[in-house]
Amino acid sequence: MTVWTTDFFTKTVWTLRGHPIFVAQHATATCCRGCLARWHGISKGCPLSEAEIDYVLDVLRRWLERQFEEGRPVTSTSD
Ligand SMILES: [Zn+2]
Repeated sequence: MTVWTTDFFTKTVWTLRGHPIFVAQHATATCCRGCLARWHGISKGCPLSEAEIDYVLDVLRRWLERQFEEGRPVTSTSD
């Protein structure tokens, strides 16, 4: 009795797959709390602090900037 089915998430992830920020999040290991904990030392289980959110956004921004600087604009990977 819920719309939040696995199918819903699969379709949502699929739709977002080619979005630059989604690409960036996977490239920088900021895609989920598990990766944040493992690669950035931001522990799971408590909400991100403002400083941590700033940090994550900064990581993403710098990664995207680097792609453009290196002439590799992040574009959709859809088929
Ligand atoms: Zn992840």
